[in-house]
Amino acid sequence: MDVAGWAVAVHGGAGAWRDEDEATACAGVSAAVSGAAAVLEGGGSALQAAIAAVVRLEDDPLFNAGTGAVLNRDGEAELDASVMTGHDLRCGGVAALRGVRNPVLVAQRVMDATPHVLLAGEGALRFARDQGFAEHDPMTVRARAAWRLRCQGEAGAAPTTPGAGTVGAVTLDIQGRLAAATSTGGVIMKLPGRVGDSPIPGAGNYANAWAACSATGRGELMMRLLVARDLCDRVRAGQHPQAAVNSLLEEMRHDVGADAGFILLSARGAVGIAHGTPAMPHAWQNSGGPVHVAFRRP
Ligand code: ASP
Repeated sequence: MDVAGWAVAVHGGAGAWRDEDEATACAGVSAAVSGAAAVLEGGGSALQAAIAAVVRLEDDPLFNAGTGAVLNRDGEAELDASVMTGHDLRCGGVAALRGVRNPVLVAQRVMDATPHVLLAGEGALRFARDQGFAEHDPMTVRARAAWRLRCQGEAGAAPTTPGAGTVGAVTLDIQGRLAAATSTGGVIMKLPGRVGDSPIPGAGNYANAWAACSATGRGELMMRLLVARDLCDRVRAGQHPQAAVNSLLEEMRHDVGADAGFILLSARGAVGIAHGTPAMPHAWQNSGGPVHVAFRRP
């Protein structure tokens, strides 16, 4: 295969970001790219690099994943996450998981230590504890305040108003392997038990031999359209990743609405980034090149 060195792209979620969060969000996605780049530069795998990036963003309370996740109707954080490797199509995920610091690491463990792809709810929690993941309360003061505001302002309103969020990473290592990792608190005020696209292979996260994709936005749309698999297929069919994300976003705008954002990376190291929301902090880097960071696409 024509390998182009390593590459990484990350996003910090498509949504209604506030302008005052721009600098912090850009610093967060930039640090996540640097973390992944260090792994890839040291000869680490695409999977290790994608997970390193997502762990950083889960630990950053600004982002809606891990610590800082938005709360559901009951005022609790239920976390979704998944990982996938493109060269062997292995994947693992967790859904509606409570009380852990880094759901992406539990997702990796589902992939490596079980015959399953996805564990949810109580079973996922029991598995996490069995695997040694300690109790952690992901709720931040900010997440609680946002939840209170929604409770006061939106009594009786639809429960699926999106917050700003989800984090994701797509990576290519020097052996030409691709990986994707995605993690989220979902949408604020979601019904307890609601599962979004992030842990569903092909919907919010996907990798194959041609491309890797992490999606963000209204998960119900991503699941109906299986956007992550669709985008990887478009690259397989010969489209440049940027052309692929542009065309899908246009189709969504026309058909179902464009509350969506994507990062897409090809096995040649080409990056595609698009979002239909006001902002989506993101960053990317190719080996030997600079880190590119942006809060929204020009
Ligand atoms: N896609 C996520 C979900 O629906 C939320 C987001 O990206 O904002 O769970």
